[in-house]
Amino acid sequence: MLSLYQKLGIDRKTYDFGAEILAGLKERFAKIDEVAEYNQLKVLQAMQKNQVSEACLLGTTGYGYNDLGRDTLEAVYADVFHTEDALVRPQITCGTHALALALMSNLRPGDELLSPVGKPYDTLEEVIGIRPSRGSLAEYGITYRQVDLLTDGGFDYEGIRRAINEKTRLVTIQRSKGYQTRPTLSVGRIGELIAFVKQIKPDVICMVDNCYGEFVETIEPTDVGADMVVGSLIKNPGGGLAPIGGYIAGKKMCVENAAYRLTSPGLGKEVGASLGILPAFYQGLFLAPTVTASALKAAIFAANIYEKLGFAVVPDATESRHDIIQAVTFGTAEGVVAFCRGIQAAAPVDSHVTPEPWDMPGYDAKVIMAAGAFVSGSSIELSADGPIKPPYAVYFQGGLTWPHAKFGILKSLQSLVDEKIVAWN
Ligand SMILES: *Cc1c(COP(=O)(O)O)cnc(C)c1O
Repeated sequence: MLSLYQKLGIDRKTYDFGAEILAGLKERFAKIDEVAEYNQLKVLQAMQKNQVSEACLLGTTGYGYNDLGRDTLEAVYADVFHTEDALVRPQITCGTHALALALMSNLRPGDELLSPVGKPYDTLEEVIGIRPSRGSLAEYGITYRQVDLLTDGGFDYEGIRRAINEKTRLVTIQRSKGYQTRPTLSVGRIGELIAFVKQIKPDVICMVDNCYGEFVETIEPTDVGADMVVGSLIKNPGGGLAPIGGYIAGKKMCVENAAYRLTSPGLGKEVGASLGILPAFYQGLFLAPTVTASALKAAIFAANIYEKLGFAVVPDATESRHDIIQAVTFGTAEGVVAFCRGIQAAAPVDSHVTPEPWDMPGYDAKVIMAAGAFVSGSSIELSADGPIKPPYAVYFQGGLTWPHAKFGILKSLQSLVDEKIVAWN
């Protein structure tokens, strides 16, 4: 084993350091495997109950009327998330699109949107119109209010109570911290927040941005009162196989509203050909629980490695996990670059290319990105990116298999050792 690692550029000290860290993670990894086992059965049960059959794997063309595979897959998603209905489509192009669709279809002019958990994910700023943008909710006369989390990460219940008014129609709750420093919300905490909101205004729609959170726990936000969960298929629930797509699962009314917006009033869920994509959607969902477990192990392994070496990590080495994102602060541009180059060098695709910091649209500093993925931009595959500005942190996530994720993290460490940013003593 060691000699194969050495052939792939990992030296003995790096390998041994990783092995020592891993020895301390056995119990945590066993718990992750248990969650994966539970979620695997949950997905399997939903597939069997809905009689997924060979015919479901075929696709339709044109309008896509009576697409058995598409309709059955949506029933499977609804059962996995314990909801009345679901919309799972390749015509939903990404997570941002799924979230925008859920918002635009369930809000009407004069309504107000509330985020009680602070600033939403970057791309949603333009959807909402926090940053003025063409086609935003603001342009359609939908207002927005935000209540920030308290400095200790808790909910500002008094602020939320004051913010809810007669116009408040939809409350959006982002489960994952995304690329912010606040803690990720557990499903349990999301449930407490929803209960509080509903007690003030029972008919408000509670939507959860579920990106990066699916299958991390045995329950999902829809098990604790969320009216809708929304996410991307090139993250957890696509299992690395879905090449595109998004989902919305929730109350029938919410999902139908989204369908009438995605296709057209009058048409809704009845149209939308699946072409040949359904095998990847089904098989990806089937694999998603174990793929998510691999990504979780990767995040925990990295947190423990880099914390031990003295770098700040969020979440830290021991805290409980509610999403698959790991941040490591290196404090220098060289650290960020070396880490990302290590991740790139470990990839199954494009391992021979060297990532460079680059100006990216929408960012105020150069960003370096490491991704050698089968699906372009997929962040359930091992990937990392870091803005070249203080505090010089990298965010990394994913790993379709645990052995690959482990190798990627060791490769990132080797890169830091080779650049003399990490020294053994
Ligand atoms: C990734 C992500 C999104 C947006 O998804 P895209 O597929 O990148 O458009 C939204 N919210 C959160 C929390 C995310 O992690």
